[in-house]
Amino acid sequence: MKNNLICVLIGAPGAGKGTQAKNVANHFKCKLISTGDILRENVENKTVLGLEAKKYIDNGNLAPAQIVVSMIKNVIKSSIEKKDASDNNFLFDGFPRDLEQNKLFEQILAQLNLSIKAVIYINIEDDVVYERLTNRRVCPKCNRVYHLKFNPPKFDNLCDDCKVALITREDDKIDVIKKRLEVYKQLTEPLIEYYRKKNKVIEINGNKDAEEVLKDIISGINCAKQ
Ligand SMILES: [Zn+2]
Repeated sequence: MKNNLICVLIGAPGAGKGTQAKNVANHFKCKLISTGDILRENVENKTVLGLEAKKYIDNGNLAPAQIVVSMIKNVIKSSIEKKDASDNNFLFDGFPRDLEQNKLFEQILAQLNLSIKAVIYINIEDDVVYERLTNRRVCPKCNRVYHLKFNPPKFDNLCDDCKVALITREDDKIDVIKKRLEVYKQLTEPLIEYYRKKNKVIEINGNKDAEEVLKDIISGINCAKQ
């Protein structure tokens, strides 16, 4: 095995994974691989895999693991060929999402002579998730994100820049959050147990503010690297 830095970021919706992923990838010069982005790109570019995935997505289903993992494999392979991931360091955000994807993922990593160094688990309490997400508002014009308590707009419910009424994203409505949390617990949490047994989990307290969480993640990864 080469000494690559391959990390996976896991956390409930509202754990701030997306933002952390970008910052962590910058800090360690990892190529960030986000399943959401990759799926979108493949669908938009009408790749063979994208067209296949679209059939499922259009019917309100998730793209099958085999398709998602094949997309991921293509990205990893082309990054290695183009050398756009320094030392082949990768950070995965939102992937693998369950044991099924993980099994296929481990197979392709083994084929590429790579292995996971650490699974960063941002642990956040359900109450904190609800408080963060139900208070989130977004400007429909410029997409600026506000939080009614921690980062409110200057004028009641209006975007500071556009003066347009803020909206609640579909994903941030309470029933949707509840459903997303259930899915996360059922599908993704077993992955944490799986990697705990392999001693690869770095657990981070996600109830703190974003800057502290980032510091904890960076020091956790630095420990895992040694
Ligand atoms: Zn705006």
